[in-house]
Amino acid sequence: MKPTGDLSLVKKINKSLVLDYIRTQSPISRAKIAEISGLTKATVSSLVNELIESHLTYEIGVGQSSGGRKPMMLLFNGTAGYAVGIDLGVHYIYAALTDLNGTIVEEYRMSHRNESVEQVFAKLMECIRELISRAPESTYGIVGIGIGIPGISDEQGNVLFAPNLGWEHVPLQAMLEKEFDIPVIIDNEANTGAVGEKQFGVGKSASHLVYISIGMGIGTGIIINNELYRGTTGFSGELGHMSIQFDGPKCPCGNRGCWELYASEHALLDRARTELGIAQVTVEDLLKLAEEGHPAAIGLFERLADYLSVGIVSIINGLNPDLILIGGRLAEAQKWLREPILKALEQRSLPYPREQLNVQFSELGIRATVLGACSFVITNFFASTKVQLDWNRYV
Ligand SMILES: [Zn+2]
Repeated sequence: MKPTGDLSLVKKINKSLVLDYIRTQSPISRAKIAEISGLTKATVSSLVNELIESHLTYEIGVGQSSGGRKPMMLLFNGTAGYAVGIDLGVHYIYAALTDLNGTIVEEYRMSHRNESVEQVFAKLMECIRELISRAPESTYGIVGIGIGIPGISDEQGNVLFAPNLGWEHVPLQAMLEKEFDIPVIIDNEANTGAVGEKQFGVGKSASHLVYISIGMGIGTGIIINNELYRGTTGFSGELGHMSIQFDGPKCPCGNRGCWELYASEHALLDRARTELGIAQVTVEDLLKLAEEGHPAAIGLFERLADYLSVGIVSIINGLNPDLILIGGRLAEAQKWLREPILKALEQRSLPYPREQLNVQFSELGIRATVLGACSFVITNFFASTKVQLDWNRYV
């Protein structure tokens, strides 16, 4: 009898399920998959054979037996395809190529002068081409491109507003898909950073975490119950525009006294220029001065910590997270920021919401965003109807 559409759909869903167990729990045996999935051993065996034929799974020797014949163990073939992840910064582009396990295999960095959309787009394409050219041969090739942007985008991947980059209504996803003909995912860099940290960094064991990316502005990625919180229309996390001074200076967003006007890299460098009397100064310069024991440079980081704390207190009181994770370039100033932040949080936040709170600095550093971007691409690849419903397209 010819299988009906429904039967074939069930089979494809089951195949996805089996692949998911192999991806997340390998090395694993067919018997174990049958046990935890509730599928029959015969069904699991037949689906595993198809996955082996599709090069997504392979066998690796025998495992421990609980009696009887020793089982053949299965592994996920992470090198069956590759993802490109990009952190599009205000003055830099950092790009990485990962395999399907999210392991970085190639990296490429460029700086840009942010003169025009066209100029940055040309450099972006150069980065992507370079990584694609370095990708090892694989069954599925490049499965997609993920980009973290310093601003907000919609579901169609249009960059709606990236004030520090000077971009408004740029159809970035469409421009790149036209160029490369593979799926492109655009998201806010703090969202991608939060997901990168949750999957690969110190955020692994946290269920409710707020990732604070401090760069030229401040962006936050909010993970609640292990899921990225996007809000009603996908624009959550703009806590950099939470006002901490009601009659403060005007912000390009329309509000006054926004948190990022006081606690971002931009604010730090502004203060450094005025107070240290240096016309051209970078975060690297300040880190170097602080390392040499320069009191004014250390003082600037401590003031930054005070301003950061004011916003973090509101996040703790409002969301009661188990982890506040400080990322972005200024995470490198941990040595001078950590103590004053912890002290201020103890003095200013409500005691109950911070009872089980951890405050950590990113260890992935600038890799958090690219890893999160790759993770979006890989998840999309496995969830896409192309894989679930039209598997044969790839084999
Ligand atoms: Zn603002």
